[in-house]
Amino acid sequence: MTQRIGLYPGTFDPVTLGHMDIIRRGAKLVDKLVIGVTTNPSKSPMFSLDERLAMVTRECASIEGTVIDVRAFDSLLIHFARSVGATIILRGLRAVADFEYEYQMAGMNQYLDAGIETVFLMADVALQPIASRLVKEIAGLDGDISKFVSPSVRADMLARIGRKRD
Ligand code: ADP
Repeated sequence: MTQRIGLYPGTFDPVTLGHMDIIRRGAKLVDKLVIGVTTNPSKSPMFSLDERLAMVTRECASIEGTVIDVRAFDSLLIHFARSVGATIILRGLRAVADFEYEYQMAGMNQYLDAGIETVFLMADVALQPIASRLVKEIAGLDGDISKFVSPSVRADMLARIGRKRD
């Protein structure tokens, strides 16, 4: 039987509990889940590509039952999906905010490769408001981010921001 390969692309700057929830849900749907970490220099990330790759790999270490492969990419999403043999692109949907962008992107990707389906997943209701951008803002203003990221990601962020306390 052919393997069902899914691709979950994102910036993951940093990987949040919202991303992890989507990864766990997505992992149940496929035999292998490729997590594609974009270089995305336009977003001037807090963490370098290598740091983000290492963080996502570390956070996914406890996931069992599905092969998880964390990879960097800077090409067109559809080209990267093809190169890893993915037939499913997984995206998370947060309320209405993500809809317009995701709807357009999925539509354009249908034109580019009709053989690849975009599948939208909803995170647990409690995790839906979490966005990397806001987590960074809150951390920068000394707010408590422990409900949004894992303890290790929190420690990485505090170290990056230069907070000594924990
Ligand atoms: P991008 O830079 O492409 O927006 P992100 O890393 O921010 O990448 O997000 C990757 C994917 O994860 C997107 O589909 C985004 O909608 C989804 N996502 C991020 N946070 C959440 C969340 N809290 N709940 C559900 N989906 C989420």
